[in-house]
Amino acid sequence: MLVRCVVNATGVWVDALRQQDRDEGAPAAQAMVAPSQGVHMVVDRSFLAGDTALMVPKTADGRVLFAVPWLGKVILGTTDTDYKGALGEPTCDEADIRYILEVTSAAFPEAQLTDADLISTWAGLRPLVADRNGNPSDISRRHEVKMHEPGWWDVTGGKLTTYRLMAEMAADLACAKLKAGKKCRTHRTPLPGSERRVDQARSVKFFTGIPNSVVGSTLYRHGHRIRNILHREKRNYGLICECEMVTEGEIEYALKKLNVRDIVDLRRRTRIGMGPCQGQLCAYRAAGLFVKYDSATSDESNKMLVDFLEERWKGIKPVLWGDALREVEFGYWIYQGLFGLGDVRFEEEAEKR
Ligand SMILES: Cc1cc2nc3c(=O)[nH]c(=O)nc-3n(C[C@H](O)[C@H](O)[C@H](O)COP(=O)(O)OP(=O)(O)OC[C@H]3O[C@@H](n4cnc5c(N)ncnc54)[C@H](O)[C@@H]3O)c2cc1C
Repeated sequence: MLVRCVVNATGVWVDALRQQDRDEGAPAAQAMVAPSQGVHMVVDRSFLAGDTALMVPKTADGRVLFAVPWLGKVILGTTDTDYKGALGEPTCDEADIRYILEVTSAAFPEAQLTDADLISTWAGLRPLVADRNGNPSDISRRHEVKMHEPGWWDVTGGKLTTYRLMAEMAADLACAKLKAGKKCRTHRTPLPGSERRVDQARSVKFFTGIPNSVVGSTLYRHGHRIRNILHREKRNYGLICECEMVTEGEIEYALKKLNVRDIVDLRRRTRIGMGPCQGQLCAYRAAGLFVKYDSATSDESNKMLVDFLEERWKGIKPVLWGDALREVEFGYWIYQGLFGLGDVRFEEEAEKR
């Protein structure tokens, strides 16, 4: 393929993509990214009252531990662990959980965190800028947009909080190269839903009859687009996900307007399945709505239900002890015993046979 300009913003895969640009068999170029694993654990809100995040700046092995109140729960997390495994599969293992629990119990003994407070985990890789001399302690949170050869830029490092700045740097360089005579406008463009300010108290009044918690969470996720979601029809505010207050109206809106292809996408747009039950009680209802709103056939919706539950499973498996394990057994019984989901034969598999 012949192109005039490439922006390689593939996160921890930046080096892999650069390698594809090299002649077959050519030695690997010096790494630009140092993948660094972060592990997070979600616990019940009762662990940390108030809205203030806390940090334990030094633990026994030098890592930082933080506790951040977040959407009715608390996230406990560690910072960087140097990572050498497969890029697609970072996981939070039992050692990570034990470590977070030990540090947390030592730092906040009165909190008495127990296994029953653990909701889920997740792990991810940060695409940190690699130090040219290979010194891990020099790896920082800075970001770089570097020209690797004329017309090809690699974007490395940074944070979620700097993504627009990085995009602006890359877009300006690309526009200059293409002689487009334009500059990036991201710093002047409001995020979708934030174009107009919306007052929560006035919204609650406007949507009389709909619970405040539903109005508040819809507003939080969609800003002034709330009026496209919670209109007067009753089905629009029937709850599908009780943990995150996601309504049928919000799901219909996401399916029709927010480029949602499966339940994992739907989770990203609406937070469905991210609460304490981790999708056990809402995933099948959501799958049904894909069929109702012509976004999937029933075969496709069963398949996406299995994929979604498998994804959620990755996050809850590391914290399955005691009560949590009992709850998951209950969910397994619903999906497997009652719905027989494990026995469903999908069309594509049937065709292969
Ligand atoms: C556990 C954890 C917690 C974090 N917490 C915070 C935080 O609280 N605040 C904060 O500011 N930052 C945080 N970060 C950092 C932040 O998530 C990353 O810095 C940021 O996601 C990097 O953005 P990116 O676009 O460069 O890479 P990514 O977000 O990884 O995006 C790269 C994309 O490229 C795609 N891709 C890869 N290869 C190809 C290809 N060949 N073709 C097409 N697409 C491709 C991938 O699928 C991916 O979607 C956290 C990171 C982790 C791991």
